[in-house]
Amino acid sequence: MRPDLETARLRMVAGQLRARGIDDERVLDAMAAVPRELFVPAVLERRAYDDAALPIGAGQTISQPYMVARICSELELRGPERVLDVGTGSGYQAAVLAELAEEVHSIERIPELAERARDALEAAGYGDRVDVHVGDGTRGLPAHAPFDGIAVAAAAPGPPPSLYEQLAPMGRLVVPVGDSWGQLLEVIVRTPAGPAVARSVPCRFVPLVGAEGFAADIPGAVLTRARVRVSGRVQGVGFRLSTRERARSLGLGGWVGNLPDGSVEAVFEGPRDRVQSMLDWCRRGPPGARVDDVAIEWEQPEGEREFDEW
Ligand code: SAM
Repeated sequence: MRPDLETARLRMVAGQLRARGIDDERVLDAMAAVPRELFVPAVLERRAYDDAALPIGAGQTISQPYMVARICSELELRGPERVLDVGTGSGYQAAVLAELAEEVHSIERIPELAERARDALEAAGYGDRVDVHVGDGTRGLPAHAPFDGIAVAAAAPGPPPSLYEQLAPMGRLVVPVGDSWGQLLEVIVRTPAGPAVARSVPCRFVPLVGAEGFAADIPGAVLTRARVRVSGRVQGVGFRLSTRERARSLGLGGWVGNLPDGSVEAVFEGPRDRVQSMLDWCRRGPPGARVDDVAIEWEQPEGEREFDEW
C-alpha cells in the first residue's frame, strides 16, 4: 500500500465527495476502499485522485470520482442487489459497485478496454466479484436481468428502453441524457404506474454508442482532437489568453502555451464542429495578432474535458 496514494484517496473522499453533498456512508466507504490508481494508465498514477475524468485510451475516460459517487448514490444500493454497469471503461466504477451490491455485471463495447478492465479488476482484488461482458450495453444483458440497479456511464439521447425493461420492480436506472456537451443525470424508477423520472446533476460524459444510443457518426457525438502550431506575431498580443477563453466557452478540452521560438501551440479536443470553429479562429487570432501559418495535426482523442494553459 502506498501511503501517499492512500492519503490522496481519503482527501478525495472528504474534499470532492462529502464536501459536495455525497452523504451515503456506504458510497463514501466504497470510494475510500477502491484503489483508483490501479484503474488509470501508469503514466497518470499521480493524477489518479484529481477532481477530473482522465484518458484511458481508445478515446475514452475513467469518470471523475464525484460522478462515480453520484451515480452510485442515486442507485440507493443497500447490499443484496444485482446491478448492471453499462460502459465498463477502466473498470473503476464496477469495482465501486462491487463494494455496494451482491452481484455486478459490467458491459463494454470496446473489447480491448474490457480486457484491460478485467486485468485491473483482478489486480485490485475484484476479479471474482465483477463479471465483465463485451457488447452493446444499450441493449442491456437480458440473460442476467432483472437488475435492481443499472448505471450508465456514457451519455444517451434518451433512456434506452431495453434498460428500463430489464429493471426489477422499483429498480433504478441512472443515465446521463443529452448531447455530447450538455447532459443531465436522469434517475428513472420502474414503478407500477410506469417510469418515474427525476433529474439530478448536470454532467458531461462520452457518448453511449449503440442501437439505443448514438450512432457512431452523429456530428457532435464524436470527438476530434487537433494539435496546432500558430506562427507569426502571436506572442505578447493576448493570443494564448484569448485562445483559452474561447476554447473554454466552446466547452473544448486541451491546452495552449507559448513556445520558445515565438509560436503558440495548442491542442483542442471536442465535437468536430467546435474544434473546426476554434481552428478557423486561430487563423485570424485576436486584434493585434498577425498569423502567418497554422499547422494542424489530427490526433486520436484522449477524452480531455478541461482546457488549461501552460
Ligand atoms: N465508468 C467507467 C470507469 O469508471 O472507468 C468510465 C466509463 S467511460 C466514461 C464510458 C464507457 O462507455 C467507454 O469505455 C465506452 O467505450 C463505453 N460505451 C459507450 N457506448 C457503449 C455501449 N453501447 N455499450 C457498452 N459500453 C459503451
